[in-house]
Amino acid sequence: RPRALSGIQPTAGSFHLGNYLGAIRQYVALQETHDAFYMVVDLHAMTVPQEPAQLRANTRLAAAQLLAAGLDPDRCTLFIQSHVPEHAQLGWVMNCIAGFGEASRMTQFKDKSAKQGADRATVGLFTYPILQVADILLYQADSVPVGEDQRQHIELTRDLAERFNTRFGDTFNVPAAHIVKEVAKIYDLQDPAIKMSKSASTPKGLINLLDDPKTTAKKVKSAVTDAEAVIRFDPVGKPGVSNLLTIYSTLTGTSVAELEREYEGKMYGALKTDLAEVMVEFVTPFRARTQEYLDDPETLDAVLAKGAEKARAVAAETLATAYDRVGLVPAK
Ligand code: ATP
Ligand code: MG
Repeated sequence: RPRALSGIQPTAGSFHLGNYLGAIRQYVALQETHDAFYMVVDLHAMTVPQEPAQLRANTRLAAAQLLAAGLDPDRCTLFIQSHVPEHAQLGWVMNCIAGFGEASRMTQFKDKSAKQGADRATVGLFTYPILQVADILLYQADSVPVGEDQRQHIELTRDLAERFNTRFGDTFNVPAAHIVKEVAKIYDLQDPAIKMSKSASTPKGLINLLDDPKTTAKKVKSAVTDAEAVIRFDPVGKPGVSNLLTIYSTLTGTSVAELEREYEGKMYGALKTDLAEVMVEFVTPFRARTQEYLDDPETLDAVLAKGAEKARAVAAETLATAYDRVGLVPAK
């Protein structure tokens, strides 16, 4: 089985519908075909200021939601990044392989630090792509399921893996980016010109999976559409309606073409009412399962401990080889 690795940040509390349809759903599917490692990347979350109690709560909440969404600890390895100290350790090694210039070219850092003001951006934010390199290489991952925005970081991973292998001998598998093309991109329900995101969306345009289902239904019913009153998939001319069709189709498995046929001659209200129902049917059990994990911290902790143990077995072996290759004296 090829090995896959992906990490998700625990920064927002509730995951939103874009996170689910654009990432988490793929994690669930990949469990069937890959030896899959998934982690809640709390070390990455620290690259921007975090309130300690909030970070801790959000990290456990992220793990609970991943399990609620369908990650099965018997079929994948789910863990918290900081539980596997090899991430930080290999991260240091890779910091010493990466060039300052190439790290400076990472567009995400440029964007995020510009947003914060250059003086407030941390060194951690600057080297975060290099920690990500270590995250991937530790597991000798073949495939890294990520969105388009992560392509540059995967390229950096490949460059640094090849550089290390050339300089110190074959150590790391050079991974392929598995940019998931067919993955749905979900837009803000109030402003379908922007992607649904925790930092940019309007509150009414953002579907948080842990919202009260009534709130979710209300948000769907007040989604922005257009004046044409025809239910047709046309992302350029009809971005609002098309977004609703994408969401409907990905949640139910009904093709967009089929939905267009089904709603021919019907009003937007009919589509919204049905989609609101589909959404409520999805979030209601999701919330309940998440709550079950939160109410039973022993079970959640046991799952995460077992995941960390499985992850460490792989990570420790890779780290030992890398430490040896670069000339560090083994501890006796
Ligand atoms: P931020 O605003 O801080 O960037 P975000 O809402 O974009 O947050 P991330 O933590 O950046 O969420 O993304 C987590 C995962 O969810 C990534 O794999 C990302 O590609 C995916 N994702 C985020 N928003 C969407 C969206 N609107 N549609 C599809 N996938 C999305
Ligand atoms: Mg994002």
